[in-house]
Amino acid sequence: MPPTRCQEPGCAGTYTRHPEQSHLDTALGVPVLQCDTCGARSALLPAARAYAQDVAALVVRKRGRVTRREVKLLRQVLGLNVAELAGELHVSREVVSQWENGKRPISPHKDALLRILVLVHLGRTGQADIEAALKGPFLEALAEQPYRLPVEPSEEATEAA
Ligand SMILES: [Zn+2]
Repeated sequence: MPPTRCQEPGCAGTYTRHPEQSHLDTALGVPVLQCDTCGARSALLPAARAYAQDVAALVVRKRGRVTRREVKLLRQVLGLNVAELAGELHVSREVVSQWENGKRPISPHKDALLRILVLVHLGRTGQADIEAALKGPFLEALAEQPYRLPVEPSEEATEAA
């Protein structure tokens, strides 16, 4: 691994491998690094970003509304903070916070819009992806609350009567 700049705010140090064997090192082959300047220890997951995008690509196709954790994951994949996502979706910052802490479910419309933002970000704008993203948030609501269609008597039924 090439030398990596320290991730602590304001530190210009460089990470070097720390001898400590962590569970990350043992299980995932991710070494513990220590900053040569501030001493902060970190384990960098180089594949985490790609993994999050893979998960996001699945989440945007799911049936039913996105969960609070999924809202946060999708926001992070978009690289937006809470205020920035709120701006994109035309809601207040408080509403996004409430989605993420489970105090308020995301509406199907905002859910669909969030998915579209992620698909555009990932460059996955094929018809199947877009259709899944637009339908997914509404399928759950449709199953929960069947919509009653008024039915006109057919001509045959009228004639028979
Ligand atoms: Zn540092």
